[in-house]
Amino acid sequence: MQVENTVVEGVRLDETTDAVIVSVRPFARAARCCPECSKQCPLYDRGRGRRRWRSIDFGSSLCFLEADAPRVRCAEHGVRVAAVPWARPGAGHTRAFDDLVTWLVCRMSKAAVQVLLRITWRTAGEIIDRVMVEADVAAGDRLDGVRRIAVDEISYRRGQRYLTVVINYDTGRVLWIGVGRSKATLGEFFILLGPQRCQQIALVSADGADWIFYAVAEYCPEAKLCLDPFHAVAWATKALDEVRAQVWSTARREGQKALAQGVKGARYSLWKNPEDLTERQQAKLSWIQKTNRPLYVAYLLKEQFRQIFAKGGEERVELLDAWLAWASRCQLTPFVELARRIRVHFREDIVNTLVYRMSNGRLESANTKIRLLLRVAFGFKKTNALIALVKLQLAGYDIRLPGRA
Ligand SMILES: [Zn+2]
Repeated sequence: MQVENTVVEGVRLDETTDAVIVSVRPFARAARCCPECSKQCPLYDRGRGRRRWRSIDFGSSLCFLEADAPRVRCAEHGVRVAAVPWARPGAGHTRAFDDLVTWLVCRMSKAAVQVLLRITWRTAGEIIDRVMVEADVAAGDRLDGVRRIAVDEISYRRGQRYLTVVINYDTGRVLWIGVGRSKATLGEFFILLGPQRCQQIALVSADGADWIFYAVAEYCPEAKLCLDPFHAVAWATKALDEVRAQVWSTARREGQKALAQGVKGARYSLWKNPEDLTERQQAKLSWIQKTNRPLYVAYLLKEQFRQIFAKGGEERVELLDAWLAWASRCQLTPFVELARRIRVHFREDIVNTLVYRMSNGRLESANTKIRLLLRVAFGFKKTNALIALVKLQLAGYDIRLPGRA
C-alpha cells in the first residue's frame, strides 16, 4: 500500500463503482499537523465528513483511501485541513499515485499515461507540479559552482508568452526557469544566485537580446557575454532568405517566370548545410550559381559565416573580420545591414564565443528538448506545471517509483 504512519481500518468494495475503498486514519503522532509547516496544532473541527484520495489501482479496479479530514488551527497559517501522511497537501491523489504519474510521464506517451492511469492531462500537470515543488525544497540550493551559463528565451502558447531558461553550460542541466523575458526576469535568477556567486560567473552565452545584456551588466559585470552561434547563424540565414525573396519578387515583376519558379523552389538547397544536400538540391544550387550571382553570393556569405563558428578558436577572429569586410561591400542590403549591426553591437560577443570556444551543441540539444516538452505540456492549465515538466526532465532530478529505493 505504501503508506507510512497510517492505520488501515478496513477494506471494502464499492459495488456501484467497482472501486476498492480502504478506510484509513493517521497514526496519532502524524495527526493534527498543519499542511503548510508540519507543526502539531490544536483541532479546529471535524471538517466536512469523509474524504477520498485516489491511490494506485488494485488490479483493474480503481482504489481510494478514505478518511476523516479534520481541520486544525495553526498559529501561523490559520484554519487548514490537517496534513495526512499518505498525500501531499491539498492533493486528491496519494503520494504513491503522484510519484507513479511523475515517473511514467518521463517514460511514456501522453496518450498512454492518460489511458493507463485514467486521468486527464491537466491532472497529470497538477501532479507533476506538486511533486516538483516538494523535490525542489528537498534538493535545496543547487546553484553552487556555476561558472558558465547560457540564457535563452523560449516562447509558448503560440508565441504569446515567454520563459527565460538558464542552463549550466558545463553540465547541460537546466538551472532555473522564470516566467517572462525581461531584465527583471533574469534579475530574479541573479538575486537567487547572490552577489558572491554572481562574481564567479565567467561567461554568459545568449542570443543577443538587450535585456540579457543589461541584466548581466548589472549583476555580473565581470562576466563576458558570448553570442550563441545558433542565433548568430540564424541571423545570416534570415539575411539570405531576404535576398532570395527580393530576387524572386524582382524576377516575377520582370516576367522571368523560370527564374522565379526556380528560386522559389530553392529554399531548402540554400538553407541546408552543404554536406546534407540531396543530389537534386545540389543541382539546384549549381543552377543558382550559374543563373543568379547575387543569390549565390548571399548563399556563400551564409555558409562562410557558419564556418566561422564551426570549430571556434582565436584564429577564427580573423575570419570573422574578413567576413564583416566582405559582407559590408557585397551590395546585398540584408547582409550589409547585418554586418553593420554585428560591427556595432556584437563583434565583441562573437569574439568571446570564438576565443572561449563556446559551441552550441549542448545548448541546442537542451533547447530542442525544451521545445519538445512545451509541446508535450500542451493541455496543462498552469505555467507552473509546464515549468515542472521541463525541470523534471532536464534539471537532473531523480523521481523514483513509489516504494523503490
Ligand atoms: Zn502552519
